[in-house]
Amino acid sequence: DKIVTIIGGGLAGSELAFQLAESGIKVVLYEMRPKKMTEAHETGFLGELLCSNSLKAESLDTASGLLKAEMEMLNSLIIKVAKKNRVPAGNALAVDREKFAKEITEILENHENIKVIREEVKSIPKDRPLVVASGPLTSHNLSKELKNLFGGELYFYDAISPIVDAESIDYSKCFFKSRYNKGESDYLNCPLTEEEFDRFYDALMKAEKVEFRDFEKGAVFEGCMPIEELAARGKQTLLFGPMRPVGLEHPKTGKKYYAVVQLRKEDVEGRAYNIVGFQTKMKIGAQKEVFRLIPGLENAEFLRYGSIHRNTYVRACDYLDSFFRYKDDLLFFAGQITGVEGYIESAATSLIIAKFLVNYFNGKKIKPFPETTALGALSRYVSTHKKDYTPSNFHFGMLPPLDKKIRDKKRKKLELSNRALNALKEYLQSEA
Ligand code: FAD
Repeated sequence: DKIVTIIGGGLAGSELAFQLAESGIKVVLYEMRPKKMTEAHETGFLGELLCSNSLKAESLDTASGLLKAEMEMLNSLIIKVAKKNRVPAGNALAVDREKFAKEITEILENHENIKVIREEVKSIPKDRPLVVASGPLTSHNLSKELKNLFGGELYFYDAISPIVDAESIDYSKCFFKSRYNKGESDYLNCPLTEEEFDRFYDALMKAEKVEFRDFEKGAVFEGCMPIEELAARGKQTLLFGPMRPVGLEHPKTGKKYYAVVQLRKEDVEGRAYNIVGFQTKMKIGAQKEVFRLIPGLENAEFLRYGSIHRNTYVRACDYLDSFFRYKDDLLFFAGQITGVEGYIESAATSLIIAKFLVNYFNGKKIKPFPETTALGALSRYVSTHKKDYTPSNFHFGMLPPLDKKIRDKKRKKLELSNRALNALKEYLQSEA
């Protein structure tokens, strides 16, 4: 019989279960929530988003735009449901987190080829093919087993940004606008003068922080760097980073600001706002004090504080091939645990594994995805990148350079995306 066992019904496990089931393969999907929760999940829904509600930019001159376009060509469930439940966010694809996860849960639980078992898997089952998609917050029991499998090597890091209650914001001090007026004016911007910035900066530097635990030391990912850690590198790091003011002049007066903090809607109704890029390991009391120095947030009520979380991942380059397969066995790893970083990257790994497994059951050999595609480049990155291995989002630097030199950055990215989409189209036709 064609049966695949999957551990974990997060973004990767949900995507994989759907792809296989749609191809006529039976799936047994183990998900421990809601019986046993992780440190960060809040519901029993499959495909719950842990932190931000954004699946990032959509345009093809961005890496995440390209990856999403490729995923769409492969009928990605995550992208389809995200688009159906989107909330306005400029040129990014952001979703109503509850509606998004609810719909994924309904689709999977009602699929004739999927059996969802709400149980923690405590040891690695003997069933094959088996896909471990238990995510960055893999349960302690399973982590221990995986640690043994990989000779004691599993890696950790993380930090998440706070959410404030929309009703507690002083809108007279902020304005709606997307950077460079791209897309709708979905971001709420809190501008700071130089004096206000300096006051904020000093408080941030002095604030009490939670100490890193042993397993977190030395393993913080650049794209998820706590705000105070960025600040410690110097004021400019903030002014060119999460507080950069360019493209955010006042929409009516044209006034320019020294620094700007951006807030993004968390739900369709706009009841909550995420402070973009402000992941932190400041203590809760300190977070209140420091973030309330931001104009407009003087009386902010925090719905969720920033915090640190564990991230479990395998040093894939030593253990997995470009189909995320462990050695020659039919044991696969999918999602963040493979050492990719991000919601869409996690789901993307499942599209690659699904292709492999569908071919496998049909007795067909499969070619690796072309290295000029985002999917191919991402799988090559995790399976071969030995030097200074750190989890990574997909970025254009992972793609081989173009044959011709193009100076204009935007055009160059669009060209890379065109090449990728054409290569993927050809690949899918040749594999069909
Ligand atoms: P998950 O979505 O976590 O799914 C794994 C599932 O496995 C979970 O449902 C879990 O309950 C289940 N599980 C675990 N152990 C077992 C077991 N033993 N038996 C049965 N079930 C089990 N990425 C972004 O792009 N944007 C963000 O804002 C973002 N924020 C993050 C915040 C935090 C705190 C963390 C840890 C990560 C964040 N990430 C973010 C990174 C990553 O994209 C997400 O973690 C994403 O959910 C990974 O998808 P996944 O399917 O690999 O894991």
